[in-house]
Amino acid sequence: MTQDARTALVTGAARGIGFATAALMLAEGWRVALLDIDREGLDRAVASLEAPDRTLALPCDVSDEAGVSAAVAEAAERFGRLDALVNNAGIAVFKPLLDTTPDEWARVLAVNLTGPFLCSRAAAPVMARTGGGAIVNITSISGLRASTLRVAYGTSKAALAHLTKQQAVELAGLGIRVNAVAPGPVDTAMAKAVHSPAIRADYHDTIPLNRYGLEEELAQAIVFLAGPRASYISGQILAVDGGFDAAGIGLP
Ligand code: NAD
Repeated sequence: MTQDARTALVTGAARGIGFATAALMLAEGWRVALLDIDREGLDRAVASLEAPDRTLALPCDVSDEAGVSAAVAEAAERFGRLDALVNNAGIAVFKPLLDTTPDEWARVLAVNLTGPFLCSRAAAPVMARTGGGAIVNITSISGLRASTLRVAYGTSKAALAHLTKQQAVELAGLGIRVNAVAPGPVDTAMAKAVHSPAIRADYHDTIPLNRYGLEEELAQAIVFLAGPRASYISGQILAVDGGFDAAGIGLP
């Protein structure tokens, strides 16, 4: 591995889609800084990757401006460059408007929308120092359709899709491409927490491929958009959803 190996920072990388993304990047020769609010989970995740010379654990809350700045600086110091940022950390509250408290609303927006804003703001100048790179924001099919249960979550993801386009236009001048991946349902810890049996059955029946996605299937799309194979793609929202969006079906 040379000093110039491609380097990524993946947020929410202790488990789920973020961990699968970090693992695939490592397998493809990247160096990866894994950032997560769950310090113990992060340590376990990094240990399981068995690549101490190409990984870095960054315990951090993406909604904490000072913490994010310090984490990005630590990654830049350790690896000397940053070629990709994957804004994957997210939280889900599945509730209707009238049941959602202002605190729940604020926290979902802080993690899912302000987090990517802060991470991108800290990372873009570092990427620009070595000619640019790519940002991949993880949105959701919940940002493509309205539903009765996702007032905060769906709004945060729809706003992140727009932030993706804003960033794509603005950061092109720094050599940075920006895209989003909008996952359909994936059976991670998040989905286990918020998908009721009724939601689960509805997804299985209505999604054209009749199943949940796998973490690794999401990682493939994310790593593609983060790397040079996607060199002329910017400002796009790629649904990786088993045909959900194409079918025009409603969220359960
Ligand atoms: P997950 O809950 O399994 O993993 C999320 C990770 O983010 C966890 O390790 C958690 O500790 C971390 N995290 C949470 N808040 C954080 C914060 N403030 N700062 C830093 N890290 C934080 O979830 P997942 O299913 O792997 O989701 C990953 C992304 O994919 C999220 O943005 C989610 O909204 C999106 N997504 C998931 C699904 C799905 O069905 N699983 C569908 C659409 C979109």
